[in-house]
Amino acid sequence: MSVLDEVLTANAAYVKDFGTKGELALPPARGFAILTCMDARLDPAKYAGLAEGDAHVIRNAGGRASDDAIRSLVISHKLLGTNEWFVIHHSNCGMEFFTDEVIRGLLANSLETAALTEQGFVDVGTGPGSAEGKYIDWLTIADQAESIREDIARITAHPLVPADIVVHGYLYDVRSGRLIEVPASGSFEIGEEGASGEGLVA
Ligand SMILES: [Zn+2]
Repeated sequence: MSVLDEVLTANAAYVKDFGTKGELALPPARGFAILTCMDARLDPAKYAGLAEGDAHVIRNAGGRASDDAIRSLVISHKLLGTNEWFVIHHSNCGMEFFTDEVIRGLLANSLETAALTEQGFVDVGTGPGSAEGKYIDWLTIADQAESIREDIARITAHPLVPADIVVHGYLYDVRSGRLIEVPASGSFEIGEEGASGEGLVA
């Protein structure tokens, strides 16, 4: 079965059990929003216990507070009433494995999918590529705790974000499924048996 067929078959089954969800209100019932990474291993509805209609989930590569993520958050509050936001990055994020310089070089070489090797991403495609990559800020991540603190700082300092919005910062551990609160300073340290609050460097 093709991916398209799989998706449409799954949707038909979903429609069958849709029940009363067609009557849900537009504003999120639980009044909060999550900004998180698009990583396929993360399912915010499951890791944060969301049902349809509960919360806004804004996703991009890294879960970064890009201009567009802030656009969504501002709409989420100003028009739809959320007043508590979560910034949730995660361990083993692909955004840690390259820099602006690297992805710009890969794209300049070819548009095909690069290979992830021990030495990082390596271009294996045949060109042409494009130099357009140099005009994009890729918002890569060198340190997860730092990137979460930076995103929270950008969001809370933004002139379109009211001061009384509560913003929580968490790291999702892909090995255990656990959310770990961002330390006030220093980096996350995740133990062998999976993350726990005790392993954090404060
Ligand atoms: Zn990620």
